[in-house]
Amino acid sequence: MVEIMTENKFDYFINGEKNKWEVIIGLEVHAQVLSKSKLFSSSSTKFGAEPNTQVSLVDSALPGMLPVINQFCIEQSIKTGLGLKAKINRHSVFDRKNYFYADLPQGYQISQYKNPIVGEGEVILDMPYGTKKIGIERLHLEQDAGKSIHDMDPENTFVDLNRSGIALMEIVSKPDLRSPEEVNAYVKKLRSIMRYLATCDGNMQEGSLRADVNVSVRKVGDIKYGTRCEIKNVNSIKFMQMAIEYEAKRQVELLEDGKAVDQETRLFDTKKNKTKSMRLKEEAHDYRYFPDPDLLPLEIDKSLIDKLKKTLPELPDEKKDRFMKIYNISAYEANILVSEKEISDYYEEVIKQADKKLAANWIMGDLFAVLNKKNISIARSPVSPKNLSILINLISSEEISGRIAKEVFEIMIEKDDNPKVIVESKGLRQQSDPIELEKIITEILTKNKDKVAQYKNGKEKLFGFFIGQVMKSSGGRANPKLVNEILKSKLK
Ligand code: MN
Repeated sequence: MVEIMTENKFDYFINGEKNKWEVIIGLEVHAQVLSKSKLFSSSSTKFGAEPNTQVSLVDSALPGMLPVINQFCIEQSIKTGLGLKAKINRHSVFDRKNYFYADLPQGYQISQYKNPIVGEGEVILDMPYGTKKIGIERLHLEQDAGKSIHDMDPENTFVDLNRSGIALMEIVSKPDLRSPEEVNAYVKKLRSIMRYLATCDGNMQEGSLRADVNVSVRKVGDIKYGTRCEIKNVNSIKFMQMAIEYEAKRQVELLEDGKAVDQETRLFDTKKNKTKSMRLKEEAHDYRYFPDPDLLPLEIDKSLIDKLKKTLPELPDEKKDRFMKIYNISAYEANILVSEKEISDYYEEVIKQADKKLAANWIMGDLFAVLNKKNISIARSPVSPKNLSILINLISSEEISGRIAKEVFEIMIEKDDNPKVIVESKGLRQQSDPIELEKIITEILTKNKDKVAQYKNGKEKLFGFFIGQVMKSSGGRANPKLVNEILKSKLK
């Protein structure tokens, strides 16, 4: 039995019959450039249009067509490169990658091969066991292909060329990933960086982010990499993780049986949760890469790179450091709050006038629960940052208890009212008048003389009972701190 083991919380390895193995993973992420028009034509990239309505002569590869580079897509790739702390190559080349497929009317894909636009960079992951640096090998620009539709007709395959020619950034990681969890963190971080930069919307359901996953295994302690398989075009993080687990086990079983792993391209079958062979891995020379004679090499001015550098927003890593330092919140909290720019914006809006720690708790707890339940993003939060900050201030100033605050919050979800108004209209203000409280407490102690006697005889657990009675009788409004003090002095 080959099984995935976690020896402690953090180690990930595969326990075979004979040896312990580790899995080596590298990702080729295809990220669709956020751009209104395609890489070499002015056709729209809008998602969800009728098939073949966003196709120019260039995209359909009619004879005589000539590609014209879209400068905006170049700028988007440079920005992404800068966000990955990568080297921007001022000289790069577009090559033709030749292959035949019905949804590739040109008979080749314009891509970059030996000279990509972006070189080595890095992505920092925050794992439970600390930060880990994942190397970026390169980022190159290329065209997307069209889509073959096999399930519309039993006898025919249809081709939709709307995607044909859309700009993709292929971001190739170094084989630095060691577990499905790291892959999860890596894809999320990459997506977060690109969303901050507004260079890719990261929408996996719409295919804006897909990955080819390279998986190999080796015995723990070995230095040489094993033979890898590439799982093509996986479009969700969950599937990436499942594919890696399956594939790693499969390879370990083969090797322990004395067989070899074939270098091949595989597909992940999302119904059977298995990878299956698609074809033996073609070598690069099979694609007959050569520089596209229709396109000049791309020469980028240093001034353009400098200009784009100045437009970069504060990115998640920097923001996280600032949040921890200035707002005095934990790394865990900061990580979550900066994971999406909208979340960090919301948080910073709330804490303009509210306690920073309480705000973090409320956003990550109660607010996220509501957003998850309603399946909406924080940008569409039913509770405005302004009203949440007022609610938090009512707690800080002890005008309402945490329990009552939750009640008020429930009402705010339905209608984003000022919590002060809700508290007043429902009479929820905390009861902090010592004379009033004393009256209630005396009443309860008189009603429960037997329990008071028991308490005085050493049954101290009953203190909680008295508190509960007071809270009940005050409709949950009694100031717990005061109740505590008064009760203690009365029971002495
Ligand atoms: Mn590619």
